[in-house]
Amino acid sequence: MKTLGIVGGGVIGLSCALRAAESGWQVTIHDPVRADAASAVAAGMLGIAGESRTGEDTYLAFAERAMARWPAFLERLADPGVIAARASVMAGVDSADVGELTMAADWLGERGHPVQSLTGKEIRELEPAVSTRVRRGFLAGREMAVDNRRLLAVLTDAVAEVGVRRVEGEIIDLDSLPDDQVLLTAGVASAKLWPGLPVYPSKGEVLRLGWARGALAPPKHVVRGLINGRAVYIVPRSDGVVVGATQYDGDADLQPVVGGVADLLADAIELMPSLREYRLLSADAGLRPLTPDGLPIIGRLDNRTWAATGHGRNGILMCAITADLVADMLAGYSIDEPAIDPGRFS
Ligand SMILES: Cc1cc2nc3c(=O)[nH]c(=O)nc-3n(C[C@H](O)[C@H](O)[C@H](O)COP(=O)(O)OP(=O)(O)OC[C@H]3O[C@@H](n4cnc5c(N)ncnc54)[C@H](O)[C@@H]3O)c2cc1C
Repeated sequence: MKTLGIVGGGVIGLSCALRAAESGWQVTIHDPVRADAASAVAAGMLGIAGESRTGEDTYLAFAERAMARWPAFLERLADPGVIAARASVMAGVDSADVGELTMAADWLGERGHPVQSLTGKEIRELEPAVSTRVRRGFLAGREMAVDNRRLLAVLTDAVAEVGVRRVEGEIIDLDSLPDDQVLLTAGVASAKLWPGLPVYPSKGEVLRLGWARGALAPPKHVVRGLINGRAVYIVPRSDGVVVGATQYDGDADLQPVVGGVADLLADAIELMPSLREYRLLSADAGLRPLTPDGLPIIGRLDNRTWAATGHGRNGILMCAITADLVADMLAGYSIDEPAIDPGRFS
């Protein structure tokens, strides 16, 4: 049996380990279990519409393909509790916010992504806790969210069941691994292990709020707001919500900053006033592994080394497709995905 050493046990390393082990590889994951792993901090949105900027056609097309892998992935994980929401509502407050959302909805619709325009009243019929200040928006009916921490727990169990070994420790040099093939999934640390790989940190802060007795229940949809030009999202959990997220490109500091937390709280309460009564459970910061074009780097680095990294804001959305592509590549299939090719930056 051929051996595969995976460096990094975040959502990408775990998903790839599962698929590779099921395809016949003997897999070992190496991870020091460090505090800077992004996967546990994330909000868990499978953001196709919500994460596409108008005009980013390449991102949208890859995100759609990534989403298409989720039904089979969820079936494999066999835990419906991983699903946190089945659709997303985009909501705008002032006329500029509404104008921006209308433009985004038109662009998505023209590209075949199903969106449904909504008045403020229709938004509140779907989500009664949304503020009366919200004027218009749209429903992205296919934009799900998952509970990323539950996903990580389910993946951890699943890889153990299929015989993946886990070794706790930091890898300093990929050449030290004895395996036939090596897969680099170390998130923001990837560039340290493969100098020149264009992956850099983008710090993000999120808050976890717990439902409190007497407060309105958490929403059923992801609610993404544009509040006077500033974006905020509220992602449901069974017992509360995740509010996010700030973005500071190039910042690798792991402490949440007071100003970022204050902005998130203010915007979330503006969008959903009842959150004022929730409990503040945590404020966390994580490092998104970003590439210059916002798309991941998946493919061969040399004749023994592969990369699956640089998933930026969308590693949860893209974990299933990444695992499938890596399994196909390891099996020797050629992959026609120039958008994610490691060589595209050279
Ligand atoms: C605030 C925030 C919100 C987000 N929200 C979303 C969202 O809603 N939807 C979405 O799709 N994505 C979201 N993301 C992005 C997502 O979290 C990342 O794209 C994804 O987690 C990247 O996964 P990864 O496995 O590549 O990296 P990580 O989760 O960072 O894992 C990398 C692993 O590599 C290990 N490692 C590092 N160095 C070494 C070494 N030398 N040897 C061995 N192991 C090593 C680390 O310990 C870590 O466990 C968000 C990110 C942030 C920060």
